Order: sequence, then C-alpha cells, then structure tokens
Amino acid sequence: MSDVPTVLVLPAPAQGHVNPMMILSQRLVEYGCNIIFVTTEFIHNKVITSMGNQEADVTTGSRIKLVSIPDGLGPDADRNNFRELFDSILNNMPAKLEKLIEELRLKDGVIVSCIVADFSMTWALEIASKIGIKGALFHPFAASLLALNCSIPRLIDDGIIDSNGLPMTRKTFQLSPSFPAMDTDSIWWAKIFVPGSANEVFNFVVHCMPHLELAEWWLCHTTTDLEPEALSYLPKLLPIGPLLRSYDHDEGVTERSLGQLWKKDLSCINWLDQQPHASVIYVAFGSTTLFDNKQFTELALGLELTNRPFLWVVRQDSDCNNKMPLPNEFKGNQGKIVKWAPQQKVLSHPAIACFVSHCGWNSTIEGLSNGVPFLCWPYIVDQFFDKQYICDVLKVGLGFDSDENGLISHEEIKDKVDKVLSDENMRSRAHVLKEKLLNNLKDGGTSSENLNKFINWLKE
Ligand code: UDP
Repeated sequence: MSDVPTVLVLPAPAQGHVNPMMILSQRLVEYGCNIIFVTTEFIHNKVITSMGNQEADVTTGSRIKLVSIPDGLGPDADRNNFRELFDSILNNMPAKLEKLIEELRLKDGVIVSCIVADFSMTWALEIASKIGIKGALFHPFAASLLALNCSIPRLIDDGIIDSNGLPMTRKTFQLSPSFPAMDTDSIWWAKIFVPGSANEVFNFVVHCMPHLELAEWWLCHTTTDLEPEALSYLPKLLPIGPLLRSYDHDEGVTERSLGQLWKKDLSCINWLDQQPHASVIYVAFGSTTLFDNKQFTELALGLELTNRPFLWVVRQDSDCNNKMPLPNEFKGNQGKIVKWAPQQKVLSHPAIACFVSHCGWNSTIEGLSNGVPFLCWPYIVDQFFDKQYICDVLKVGLGFDSDENGLISHEEIKDKVDKVLSDENMRSRAHVLKEKLLNNLKDGGTSSENLNKFINWLKE
C-alpha cells in the first residue's frame, strides 16, 4: 500500500456539508493525503462559479481534486424537495461512483484507499465494502443527534415516537441518566414543515443506519468539551472539531477557500475594521433559510431599532425566491448588507458582539469557537436541538419568543439583543468555551490526536 493514501470524500449536496468536509480534506492533505472531493454536478458548478471560474488557477498542483457526478435530476428540478433529490441520488449516484473509482484506477493510476462518506451519503460505504477499500463515516451534525438516531428502536419501544418517527406527546426525555434532557419538540427529523416530509426524512435515516456498521471509523464535527455525554454514549464516535478554515492567506479565491457555493463579499471585513470593538450584531441564517415578507420586515426594523451596527447576510439566490424588498422605514445607516460573507473570518473579527443565527451546526461550532454569544432563530431540522443546546446546556445564547401571530417582532429583536449584549456572564462563559474548543486543535488535543490516529489507520 502506498504511503500517500488517496481518500475519496463525499459530502451531501449542501453548503453545510461541503464546508466541513472540505476543511477535513484540507487537514488530511496537511497530514500527507491526496483527496478526491466528489460532489454532485449541481454543487460542483456552484463551487466553480463562486471562484469566478478560476478553477484551474486555484486547483492546479493542489492535492485536492474536485470531481462531480450527476445527481440524476434535470437542471431546473427543485433540489429543495428532499425526497426527489435523495431518491434520485440513490438511483443514480452509486453506479456512477463505482465507475469513477474504476476510471481513476484505469486512466489515472489513482488507487482510492478509503471513502469518507457524509451521514446522508452512507450508501457509498456499501461500495467501499464491495470493492474492498476502507470506509469511514463523517457526521456533520451534533454527536447527540447520532446518539438519537442510534436510539430509534428504543424511542419507539418507550412510546416517545411512533413508528413514523413522530413524537407521541410533548415531553422531555434522556438517552442515558447523564445525557442532557432532550425535548420531543426538537427531534430533528420531525422539524420539517412540508406535509409528509418528516416521515420521509425519518425513513431515510432508518435506511442509512445499517450502512454505518460498514464504516470502521465514525468521525464527528464536535468536541469532547461540547458533548461529553453523547461521545461516551457512542464510544465509536470520534470528535475531530472544530473544523475551522485557516484564513491567514485567504484574501481572495485560494485553495484555502475552496468549497463555497456563493462568492464571498470581502468588503464586509474592511467595514468591520471601521467598527468599535465588540459592537456589531452579525446576522446570518446559513444557506437555505427563507423568510416570509412580514418576518423579513420585522427583522429589518428590529435591527434598525437596536441602534447598533449590524452586518446582515441576505442571500439573493437565483434558484430560490429570497428577494424581498426592505421596508420603506428601514434606513440601514448603521448596517451593512451582503449576499454572502466570509463567515468564519467575520466571526473571528474583534468588532463582532453577537451572532443572530439559525443555529445550523456549522454556524454553531463557528460561533462557539470564536466566543461569540448567540441569539438563536432556528428554522428547520437540527437547528431546534442546537438552539436548545446553546441556550439551556451551554448557556451562551438566548432564543426569541414569537407573538400570537407566530412572528418575532422588531421590539422582541431589540429586547433580546440588548439582553445578550449586557450579559457579562454569558460573554465570559462563551470565552471559556472558545478556549476549550480551540485547545482540541493543539498538539496533544483530543481532536488533533483523533485525526492523527485516523491518518495512521489510513496509511496502514
Ligand atoms: N456561511 C458563509 N457565509 C455566509 C453564511 C454562511 O460562509 O454568509 C457558511 C457558514 O460559515 C457555515 C455554512 O455556510 O459553514 C452554513 O452551514 P450551517 O450548518 O451553519 O447551516 P446550513 O446552511 O446547513 O443551514
């Protein structure tokens, strides 16, 4: 076996999966691996477009090779339709992935020695097993959620969920006596609000679970400090977080910034440089959240009402309808709006005071790793669990309360921003947690040691 393993990395087709798996790939390269980074054609095209089509400039000589496989859907298909997308992936991608691995061997003499598959792409572990190469799982969400997935049969037996995965009644429960309480109202697969979709996602999870046994390694984007109980509940699951981009040389499109689906607006960093220390509210809701018009208006007015500087990411996707007018009363003099930010760089900027976030797991880890307190505004799936964890377990954030019409009002936004920014205890807890998280990346740190062990296994 070669001393330089070639690892095929397969994220699910979404920004929140591509990002951490690209950073993991960059880590593996630092440890001497070559990477075949496989995404769907749809995602690949976005990544290349976001680089201004400078793919060749950025990736020539790189040890990360970007490769795409069609997901089987037409160019105009609705890829937000979970069922259509994953049915099509399951029907089309396995044969193509196998063919790709064979072609790499025959045409380029590249022998793939391991597949690292995202939780949602664990069908690829069957291929690894079939062709006799190594397989590893990457779980991009909280370890607690994998613990929950692994407990599905017990949750059904205990009457917590029914056989369709839906909570039987609203209550809290614990996976083990030391596990933080979970709320049935934040069971992640049940937090999809398209009729019938929760059951589809649940069935998909049930379908994925047996594949996990094919993986010799289970890696997770978390740390022991964050989720000690979940990690002792699943001893096979190894934390390798926080997966953070190194921004030292990342002023433009470079190999370091590979994997963005939209072009980053770097002008916000110059703008942040002009703002006082710990003064700016950073507002970003990840890659999929959509607001309705009324809520968008309340948010705009709420930010204005805080009378503080804010940096607000408002995506303007061509493939989704996120183009809403700002209200007439909104002047925005103290704020800056961008379509896509270099989020990790923003969060590490000294001008940032707090993070109004949808609590996607990457945003959660990125905010925690920078000691930034949260204002939590979850939208779907795991974000409700993450919010609960941030607010009730880690105690480094507050949630918003909706009014009788289900709206988060502009007064509520101002109120909660003021509360978080005046809470010195919360800020110092966030700082302590940041130090703990970052220690994981130092020599001898748990995540760093886990990656070392993983690489040694890859090289065996
Ligand atoms: N992100 C970014 N710029 C933005 C907004 C988000 O680079 O303006 C990145 C963010 O750093 C994170 C990812 O997009 O790594 C979003 O993942 P997350 O799990 O937070 O949310 P999702 O998009 O999956 O809902």
